[in-house]
Amino acid sequence: MKPRVSVIKVDGADVQAAVRRAVALAGGLDQIIRGDSRVLIKPNLGKPAPSGSGVITDCRVTEAVTKMVLELGARSVVIGEGGIAGYDFPGFSTEEAFRDSGTVDVARRLGVELRNLNRDAFEEVEIEHPYVMDRVRIARTALESDVIISLPVMKTHIRTLITLSLKNMKGVMPGAEKRKSHRLGLDLAIADLNLVVRPSYAVVDGLVGMEGLWQYPQDSRELGLVLAGREAVAVDTVGTWLMGFDPRQIMHLQYIAQREGISADLGQIEVVGEPIAGLRQSFKSGFQVFKERYPEVSILEGESACTGCFNELVSAITYVKEAGFGQTMEGLTIVVGNPQEPATASKTAILGKCAEYLAHLGPYAKGCPPKEDDMIRALCQACAANAEIVMTTRDQMRHRLWESSKAALEH
Ligand code: SF4
Repeated sequence: MKPRVSVIKVDGADVQAAVRRAVALAGGLDQIIRGDSRVLIKPNLGKPAPSGSGVITDCRVTEAVTKMVLELGARSVVIGEGGIAGYDFPGFSTEEAFRDSGTVDVARRLGVELRNLNRDAFEEVEIEHPYVMDRVRIARTALESDVIISLPVMKTHIRTLITLSLKNMKGVMPGAEKRKSHRLGLDLAIADLNLVVRPSYAVVDGLVGMEGLWQYPQDSRELGLVLAGREAVAVDTVGTWLMGFDPRQIMHLQYIAQREGISADLGQIEVVGEPIAGLRQSFKSGFQVFKERYPEVSILEGESACTGCFNELVSAITYVKEAGFGQTMEGLTIVVGNPQEPATASKTAILGKCAEYLAHLGPYAKGCPPKEDDMIRALCQACAANAEIVMTTRDQMRHRLWESSKAALEH
């Protein structure tokens, strides 16, 4: 029998009705949740951002799913996430992501525990017949859950092209494991991780997605969709296709499908709900947008380079440019990860602990990942730009984004 995935268009602002319809059509949630079930609901709240921005899972989707789980009488329900870097620091913490997304209010309203998985107890698990990761440390909350419901937001990723319900499981690993997964090969590591913590169900927030580098408000894409299904590979396959990518390009999908003898192919999935032909978009990939937006910057990347540094870097470059110092970045080389020492090193900024051995080549931002302010300072020093003006511009941009998202939610 083909796996079933539902695709539902949101009618007006009634997100709850759309989520309920998507789950009802896809079926199966009532079959996996019983009175003795311990349920982990795992939104994508990798960094602080408001609901509706496309950066994180909209709290209305989390609320709708949590209500349904509570109605099914689960023994315990936790909404859990561990921020993107695997640990928390001011301006980038999981608690701020809970707060800014509105998920704190959802948990309070529903009387459900919100758990920062970066601070959870971790257990090491052996993985049999892995691609690359023979052991991995995982948050105990995830290991002790009978049911994991993955709630990704539909967006692109600079390394894996897309991030949906399977990649969303990275949030249950501590920081060191998150970084290791990048060194081992992120798509292969995601495939291995999903042998240990595979979503039992996936509901995708496709209300507003994000293409490119997920930093500019204009990169958000209004889709007004909710996807649901019991088979995460099938849900991610449909989500990938709706973003305009070919599921054959998504390596972790293909690795999982290959190992399990299944097919990450749209033709092998029963799609119910809306006819999807007219809903397909063409999201730009992270690299496409990076090249279009920052042709003046070269990245010298070693194999240990990971999303921790890249996410911060993209933000920092964005703010330097928005502050009017774009031209000063002409000819700038940015070193991330552990590459070989470049032959020439004029106008170079060195980022992160991995590249510390090259700190003699130019301004260095320490940390793993470096704090955004430190990164901005290093870039500005390398380019002779004014870091204080850049940080003021950043604060203004964030305020504008927050205000417009809040207004949209209230509307
Ligand atoms: S220093 Fe940067 S690239 Fe290296 S592991 Fe840390 S976050 Fe990743």
